[in-house]
Amino acid sequence: MKQYIQDLVKALLGRGSTTGVFLGLLTVATLIAGVAHLAFIFLFGSAGVNWMARANVASVLIYVLSAWLIYHGRHFVAMGLIVGEILLHGLLAVVVIGWDSGFHYYIVLVVPVVILSNLHTTWFKLLAATTVAMFYMVLDFLFRGVQPVQTLAPAMLQGLHYFNLASSLLMLAVLAFAYYRLVANAEASLRDQACTDPLTQLRNRRFALEVAQHEAAVFERGGRPLALVLGDVDHFKRINDSHGHETGDNALKAVAQALREGVREIDHVARWGGEEFLVLLPSTDEGEAMRVAGRLREAVEQLRLRHSEQAVPLSITLGVSLMQAGETVTQALARADQALYKGKLAGRNRVVLAGQAS
Ligand code: GH3
Ligand code: MG
Ligand code: MG
Repeated sequence: MKQYIQDLVKALLGRGSTTGVFLGLLTVATLIAGVAHLAFIFLFGSAGVNWMARANVASVLIYVLSAWLIYHGRHFVAMGLIVGEILLHGLLAVVVIGWDSGFHYYIVLVVPVVILSNLHTTWFKLLAATTVAMFYMVLDFLFRGVQPVQTLAPAMLQGLHYFNLASSLLMLAVLAFAYYRLVANAEASLRDQACTDPLTQLRNRRFALEVAQHEAAVFERGGRPLALVLGDVDHFKRINDSHGHETGDNALKAVAQALREGVREIDHVARWGGEEFLVLLPSTDEGEAMRVAGRLREAVEQLRLRHSEQAVPLSITLGVSLMQAGETVTQALARADQALYKGKLAGRNRVVLAGQAS
């Protein structure tokens, strides 16, 4: 039950899947409608409008049944029942107490609900929405301005009218808000996925380049120094060959975590390619960058990865370059790459500082 309530709150905030949000909204609307109709039984009973009081007893039973159906996964039946209740209740109210009671507003609300619903076929959504819209138009044409069966006291009629108008508008706003949040969350999650490497959960090359361009622009404006560290796991092909691709993947995840944990909050760690990583260190001078790179090298060396009781040795070679005035990110990266290459030639598992651009 606790989980159920949490899911409902999530749905109202537009979190989760489209279907989840829709069902959450449907459930909340069902519960509210049930309580509102319960109140109407007493209101109409005390005003002597027995037809409407009896209809509201039926409505409450329908909403209780619908809530039960939704809880047990019978969404389509529940939705059919709710839509049927709204249409019939609207029709009855318009005939018995008149158009001005405003119960017809809920019928308008069915149109967006049907379209946003989790009905699978588009044509069925369109057909259902059009039918409801036509029903509303016919109701308006036939009953607006027609004398109702029972005339309510003007104050009561007006009260009902504004209550129904306000709650219809409120429901419309809640519906629109939940769907706005749903779309905004989906967009944010897609943007995040487009920038994230699925294996290591680090930022990917594309995002790293964007950040590097931004940090380089800050540097160019006479700001802080910027260090770029390019790392490449040593003899990674051997790990794959002797322990399998899965162990290779685990090694990459472990290295990624070690790098992420080894830098400050303002630094950026990205997966640059297969077994290559880029670390951007803003506001970092040469001495500090070399110290950080040294620490990262040690952290990777100390990783204890095992495969079938066998230790898998890991090490990384890193090239460090400091962004220079008038230089592009590509040029600074190329110098870091050259330094990395030198480190590989010199025996791997080391940090090499790039020379100045000539
Ligand atoms: P070096 O020390 O000179 O860097 O040697 P190396 O073996 O690390 O370099 P090489 O470029 O020869 O091999 C890199 C290997 O990384 C080859 C490729 O199959 C592997 N690789 C690239 N991406 C992935 C991945 O996502 N998962 C796994 N398991 N392996 C990958
Ligand atoms: Mg490589
Ligand atoms: Mg390598």
